[in-house]
Amino acid sequence: MSEIEALLETGQVQDGAPPVLELDRVTRSFPTSPPVVALNEVSLRAEQGDYVAIVGPSGSGKSTLMNVLGLLDRPTSGEYRLMGRQTTTMRERERTRLRGSAIGFVFQSFHLLPHRSVLDNVMLGETYARTGDRKGRRVRALAALERVSLGHRVEFAPPQLSGGERQRVAIARALMGSPGLLLCDEPTGNLDSRNTEAVLDLLDDLRATQGLTIVVITHEHEVSERAARRVRIADGTLTESA
Ligand code: ADP
Ligand code: MG
Repeated sequence: MSEIEALLETGQVQDGAPPVLELDRVTRSFPTSPPVVALNEVSLRAEQGDYVAIVGPSGSGKSTLMNVLGLLDRPTSGEYRLMGRQTTTMRERERTRLRGSAIGFVFQSFHLLPHRSVLDNVMLGETYARTGDRKGRRVRALAALERVSLGHRVEFAPPQLSGGERQRVAIARALMGSPGLLLCDEPTGNLDSRNTEAVLDLLDDLRATQGLTIVVITHEHEVSERAARRVRIADGTLTESA
């Protein structure tokens, strides 16, 4: 028996990487009158390379869940570990730093600056990520644009691009902080089906080639079908379907 087999027998070899994200009975309530329980003891775990779609009707808690996962909001109770780190008790400054280094955000409405070039918009991703790593920013932005197949559009302004191209610019910007987790809120909500396909192909490709973990909130069947896991949210409660 080899040394590694012996270790396996005794169970002392542990998979080194912690889950990318781990929500443990997270509740988020708002002290309105009457109070609203937007998330009710939610537990969710995702490993590196997971692709999770979160689907639910309006008012079910999707944005609240996104905000908690994105370290933009704190649970009222329960725990949230991101990259193995307990975030619930972290100071705000530390949460901001972790958010910048671990998470990329993609929104329905792109949020690109219309009067700046595609390249400038992507370079700004590093400012948002607060990595403080300005050296070589331009080179990394060009590489990110190549990554999303927009190397030929760097000097364009966002209004000169199709919706799908704009979303790919936003994804390139999200990649600038080298995140492990990509949080997407209705990323194809403003796109026609052809552009939706292109964006979904890109997400697939990023997951497969970079091991990115992807969480996508969506109403669209077309989008949730592409994810490896589908989680329904209703009244702040999660159910994972097969
Ligand atoms: P979704 O994104 O699925 O539409 P939300 O997460 O935005 O749902 O909202 C879930 C519930 O929490 C809703 O009932 C909403 O009214 C309530 N809610 C969200 N944010 C707040 C807030 N800041 N104050 C009070 N209630 C809120
Ligand atoms: Mg919402």
